[in-house]
Amino acid sequence: MTPRERVEAALSFEGVDFVPVLPPFQGFWAVGVYETKISEIFKDPMRGAEAQLNILNKVPFDGLEVLWDWLAPVEACGCKVHFPDRGNPVTIDRIVKVPEDIDRLSMPDLSKHSRTKNNFEVAHHLKKTLGAERYVYVTLTLPFTLAGELRGVEALMLDILKRPEDVHKLLSFATEVLREYAKFSAEIGVDAIFWCDPTASADLISPRHFKNFVAPYTKAILKKTRDLGLKAFLHICGNTSDRLNVILDLSPDLMSLDTKVDLVVAKDILNKKVPIMGNVSTTDILMKKPIDIIAASKECIRRAGKIGFLLGAGCDIPIDSPIENVKSLCDSTKEI
Ligand SMILES: [Zn+2]
Repeated sequence: MTPRERVEAALSFEGVDFVPVLPPFQGFWAVGVYETKISEIFKDPMRGAEAQLNILNKVPFDGLEVLWDWLAPVEACGCKVHFPDRGNPVTIDRIVKVPEDIDRLSMPDLSKHSRTKNNFEVAHHLKKTLGAERYVYVTLTLPFTLAGELRGVEALMLDILKRPEDVHKLLSFATEVLREYAKFSAEIGVDAIFWCDPTASADLISPRHFKNFVAPYTKAILKKTRDLGLKAFLHICGNTSDRLNVILDLSPDLMSLDTKVDLVVAKDILNKKVPIMGNVSTTDILMKKPIDIIAASKECIRRAGKIGFLLGAGCDIPIDSPIENVKSLCDSTKEI
C-alpha cells in the first residue's frame, strides 16, 4: 500500500498492511530540526516547506500537516502575537479586553492577512509536492480555543459563568472566521482539516460546559468542512475520557487522543463509528530512547487494534525531540 492508501484504509476501517503513522503535528518541530527560527519562516515562508520535506526524508510519515501555524486566525482577528525563535507563537495582546468589545469585532479580510496568505501558499506547495503519495492536512484551531485567544482563557472561563450570552456571541464570531479558513483549505485541495481544541480539554472545562459551549460550534465547523469535500479530524489535548460520548455524537472523521486517554476505553465508546489515533507520550518522545518509543507504540497498537487506528504522538511533537525517537513511531509498525 502507498502511505495515502494506508491512511485512507484506516479511516474507512479497512485492513492495512501496516498501521499508518501521522505525527500528528510536526510542523514547528520540523522547523527547529531544520535549524530555522520561527521568525525566519514568516519572512521566507518556503523555508518552512523545505523543513517539512527535510523531515520526510528522515521520518517516513504516511501523512503530515502542511499548515501548522494554527493560531494565525488570532492575529488576523486583531490580536498581537509574539513569535519565539522556537515553538508555537504566543498571543500577547487580546482584541476582546472587555465583553463589550465583542460587538466591535469585524470579519477579517483574510486575503489581506499576509501570515494567512503565506501559510496557505506553503500548504499548497506541499500538497502539490507530496499529495499524490501522502495524506496531507492543515491544522487549525476550533472556535472555543480561538475565542479563548481573543478574550484570554481565564476571562473566557469567568464569562461562561457570568455572561454566557456574550460567550455564545464570541463563539459565533469565531465560527464565522474559521469557516473562511475552511474555505481556503478546500481551495488548495488538501485531504483534511485537523481541528484542534486544546482549551476544550477536561483539564479546563466540565463536560456540561463542553456540551453547551464547545459541541454546537464544533459540529457546525465539522459540517462545513465536510460540505467543502474535506475530511474533518478532531484533536483535543489532555484527558477527554469523560466527553467521548459527546465526541461520538459529533462524529469526526478521526479522533486524535492525548496520552491520558485509555485507547481501550476510547475504542469501546467510539466503536466502529470514529477511527482513533494516538497516543504515544510526547514527554517520552522528547526524553526517552528509541527502544522505549517502539515499546510504547506497540502497546498503543495492542490496545487499539490494527483496524480503524492510526499511530501518532498524543499531541504536538515537542521541539528538540530527537529524530530517532520520532522515527521509531514509524519503525514500530513494521515490527507488528
Ligand atoms: Zn494536543
